[in-house]
Amino acid sequence: MKILLIYPYCLEDRIHTENVESMPIGIYYVAALLKKKNYDVEIINWQKLGRTPEEIKAVLIEKSPDVIGFSILQANRWGGIEIAKVAKQINPDIKIVFGGITPTFLWKHFLTQFPEIDCIIRGEGEYTFLKLIQCYEKKEFESIGAIRGIAFRKNNTPVKTQDADPIRDLDELPNPAKYYTFNHLALTRGCPGNCTFCGSPKFWGQRVRFHSAGYFVDQLELQYRRGITFFLISDDTFTFKKERVIEICKQIIERGLKIIWFAISRVNFINEEVVYWMRKAGCLQISFGVESGSPKIRNILNKKTTNEQIKNAFRITLHYGIVPRAYIIYGSPGETKKTIQESINLINEIKPLVIIFHVLVLFPGTALYWNFKKKFNLSDELWLKPIEDIMYFETDKRLSWEKIKQFKNMLHINFFKNLPSFVDEIELIDDPELYPMHADFYSRLAMSFDHGEYSGVEALGDSKKIAEKLYRKSLEYHPVPRAYLGIGMIRQKNRDLAGSIEVLSEGVKHFPDDELINTCMGISYMNLGQFNNALSYLLKFQESQQALNFIADCYKELNDHENEAAARIKLSLLQQGGNI
Ligand code: SF4
Repeated sequence: MKILLIYPYCLEDRIHTENVESMPIGIYYVAALLKKKNYDVEIINWQKLGRTPEEIKAVLIEKSPDVIGFSILQANRWGGIEIAKVAKQINPDIKIVFGGITPTFLWKHFLTQFPEIDCIIRGEGEYTFLKLIQCYEKKEFESIGAIRGIAFRKNNTPVKTQDADPIRDLDELPNPAKYYTFNHLALTRGCPGNCTFCGSPKFWGQRVRFHSAGYFVDQLELQYRRGITFFLISDDTFTFKKERVIEICKQIIERGLKIIWFAISRVNFINEEVVYWMRKAGCLQISFGVESGSPKIRNILNKKTTNEQIKNAFRITLHYGIVPRAYIIYGSPGETKKTIQESINLINEIKPLVIIFHVLVLFPGTALYWNFKKKFNLSDELWLKPIEDIMYFETDKRLSWEKIKQFKNMLHINFFKNLPSFVDEIELIDDPELYPMHADFYSRLAMSFDHGEYSGVEALGDSKKIAEKLYRKSLEYHPVPRAYLGIGMIRQKNRDLAGSIEVLSEGVKHFPDDELINTCMGISYMNLGQFNNALSYLLKFQESQQALNFIADCYKELNDHENEAAARIKLSLLQQGGNI
């Protein structure tokens, strides 16, 4: 029996694709359990595959599955339906199963409106999907109704079975990292919060369940040994159990995993000790759902956090050299210019280095969505419209598109206007043990102004100037190759070649074998017309195509045609993949 697990494409194209390109971790868990039970299972991330019926058909004919399980979120449900329709046309006997947060809450809608869907997995999917596959395999279709946690059609009527029990011991699940390569991990399932805009508590439950530290770090280590060094840890509240997080951080250090990672937490589940260990273990960024600076709006969103907790979390995080990132929601019930100003005031106090601004959206499974349906006497069939989601402001007469645009402008303008001063006011803890990490923090922050997300943002003014200042700060703590290189390149672009050589010479002293610093040094000398000096740096890297190019150019300028020809032959051999 061939099983395909598909993460379908979203309805709307994304400008920034990072958030949708990485698949939900749950799909790997489902696949790992099936693999352990010796099923033939394959995962397809359809984000970058063709979407025309012909292109979908070609993939499905090649894979020829007996069952397709779709991982469905709100945004990709139409993609799932389109692929399912083509699959049923190719093979009417194929079984189509939808799982994930949206089908869990909209099971009746899906089974009523889309005959191509045979079954819905409601809630946690691993064991429920396995039981369903076992029924399909043995063709025991009449036993499907005994599986807890599903919805299906009985006599053409959608019905759901009793909820499945949550998996008590998450470690009993086969470790997905044994079978798959990914960089998106979760330690926990569940969230202690109960925010009115979020479906997580209803999907996972408010009781938080955990993997052991060992299981979690085993996942990291397996991926690390395959060359993955950057991880996104997407728990709703990674630091819910601080002792466990500290144990994880200690194991990361003891096992010698040179990794960097981002995590998400809540402002009331953080303290200095846990942040210290997270930084030591490679954490670079913690995201917090601040949502609003107005306590009244946070109350409406049932956020249950105080301004003091928010300020404290941001202060501690930044103090230890971790980027604090804020999620800010606008367009909430009761939002006015005054509440937006409260958000701005709070932002200016907590000084986040990154903010993700969102318009409040209504998702199935949330209290806000439920209230909206009740207020307008609507049914879930509203999702038949080809839309990804519904923005709250569209349902509230007191708000309008104009107001939302105005709120957005107020928030964005304030943030970019003040970001340079937020950066200037950073104060890191004075702990010599953390100096190398502080240097790493400043040099990475510099990169975001030099050539990352803040480079060229008009509202920031001269972002290269900010970058150079941050690279310099980084070097006050510890030598870092990217800081020497960053300053060297900025100066080179400004035609300050002597200044570039000065800082790069320092870099070469600390990192004599660093190809980028040496090459940059070579280029600065070439720009000064000092080709022999340039060669003294470039000739160390004759295995590098980039360096060889410059070497050949230097010899040409020196009228050394023999060496120039030799360098060009080497370069051409390298380009053809040959050995020198
Ligand atoms: S928004 Fe965050 S804190 Fe609130 S319920 Fe959802 S996951 Fe929990």
